[in-house]
Amino acid sequence: MARIVMKFGGTSVADLERIHNVARHVKREVDAGHEVAVVVSAMSGKTNELVGWVQNTPKVAKADSPFYDAREYDAVVASGEQVTSGLLAIALQSLGVNARSWQGWQIPIRTDNAHGAARILDIDGAELIRRMQDGQVAVVAGFQGLGPDNRIATLGRGGSDTSAVAIAAAVKADRCDIYTDVDGVYTTDPRIEPKARRLKKVVFEEMLEMASLGSKVLQVRSVELAMVHKVRTFVRSSFEDPDAPGMGDLLNPPGTLICDEEEIVEQEVVTGIAFAKDEAQISLRRLADRPGVSAAIFGPLAEAHINVDMIVQNISEDGSRTDMTFTVPTGDLDKALKVLDEQKDKVGFDVIQSESGLVKVSVIGIGMRSHAGVAAQAFSALAAKGINIKAITTSEIKISILIDGAYGELAVRTLHSAYGLDKK
Ligand code: ASP
Ligand code: MG
Repeated sequence: MARIVMKFGGTSVADLERIHNVARHVKREVDAGHEVAVVVSAMSGKTNELVGWVQNTPKVAKADSPFYDAREYDAVVASGEQVTSGLLAIALQSLGVNARSWQGWQIPIRTDNAHGAARILDIDGAELIRRMQDGQVAVVAGFQGLGPDNRIATLGRGGSDTSAVAIAAAVKADRCDIYTDVDGVYTTDPRIEPKARRLKKVVFEEMLEMASLGSKVLQVRSVELAMVHKVRTFVRSSFEDPDAPGMGDLLNPPGTLICDEEEIVEQEVVTGIAFAKDEAQISLRRLADRPGVSAAIFGPLAEAHINVDMIVQNISEDGSRTDMTFTVPTGDLDKALKVLDEQKDKVGFDVIQSESGLVKVSVIGIGMRSHAGVAAQAFSALAAKGINIKAITTSEIKISILIDGAYGELAVRTLHSAYGLDKK
C-alpha cells in the first residue's frame, strides 16, 4: 500500500467525459488499496476566460491601474478549480468511490500575501491524512490557498502543479503523479526533433533547468518544491486507458520520474536540449569599469519587472572601460532600452546595441559536473553546421548558447544528435 497524490491538468478535465475518465484513473489506485488525494486544475481554457473577464472588460480596471484589485482577481480566477473539484468528487461517488472536495481555504493551504502569484507557506495535512486513512479520497482544488488577509489567493499560472507537490510533501506521499496531455518528459521538443525520446528518469536539478528554460510540462515552482522536499514526481498521460496493463504499476508506471540523483544508476552526461525563442540581446559598450555599475544597470531593470538572463561582462583591457551583454524576452526589449537610456548618465556607457529574434539553446545534464569536453562538443557540432554563436553562459549542469533565430531548430537537432540523444 502506498500514499499517492494524483494531479490532473486542464486538458485532462476539459469536459464531463474526461472527468469521468479521470475518475477511472483514481478508482484504479483506490481499488489497488492505496491512499489517494487528487489535485485538479480548472477545465482547459477556463482560467484564461476568467482572467479575461477580470482584465479585459472595458468597465473593469486593468492590472496596472490603481483601481485594479488583486484580491478580487483571485476570487474570480480561483473559481475554475472549485468547479472541477466538485465535479470530480461527484464522478468518483458515481463509481462507488468515497470522495469529498476541498477548497484551498478548507484545508487550509496557507499562502503569503502576493495575490495572483502567492507562495505556499504551510499546509496542515492532518485532516487530509485522517480522511485518506479512512478510505476517503480528498479532491483538492489546485492553484488556490488562503492568504494572511483571510482571502483566497492564487499561485500564479500553472500553479496547480505546485499545489500537488506541496500537498504530496505535506501528507508525506510516496509519489506525486502529474497527469497531463503528454506522456512524459522528452530529450527535447518532439515537434522540433521527431527523434526525441521519452526519458525514464530526470534529476530534480535537470528538470528545474528544463522548466526554467521553457519546457512547459511543469510550473518552475513545483519543481523547486519537489527538489526541496524530495517528492518523487511522475509526469504521465491521462489519455491512456486507465485500465491498460502496467498503468497501476507501483514502481514503474508509464511516464517520466523526476527524482533525486541517488535514484539514478547510470547517469548520462547530457539529458536534454532546451530551447527558448524570442530572446533579445542588449549590449552596453564601453561602460565605466568601477563598483556599482552592474547594480545601476540591473537594479532599475528588476524594478521594471524585466527578466534578465545570460549576463556576460568582459574583463576590461585597461581597467577603465568594459562591455556588458545580456538577454531579455523580446517583448520587453523596448521597455528595457527605455529604462537603460534613463540610466545613461549614472552608468556611463557609450552606446547601446540591441538585436531581437534570437534563440537560446541549452544543453542540460547533471553528468557534466564530472565530464570534461562537453561544451567543446557542442561548439564543434554547431561549427560544422555553420551556426554562429553570439554568447555563451554556463552553469555546473548547463551550457546555454545564444544564436540567430533562423538557426534555432537546426541547432536543437544538431546538438540532440551530437550527444547521441536520438540513439539510446
Ligand atoms: N488553472 C490554472 C491555470 O490555468 C492553474 C493550473 O492549471 O495549473 O493557470
Ligand atoms: Mg499545467
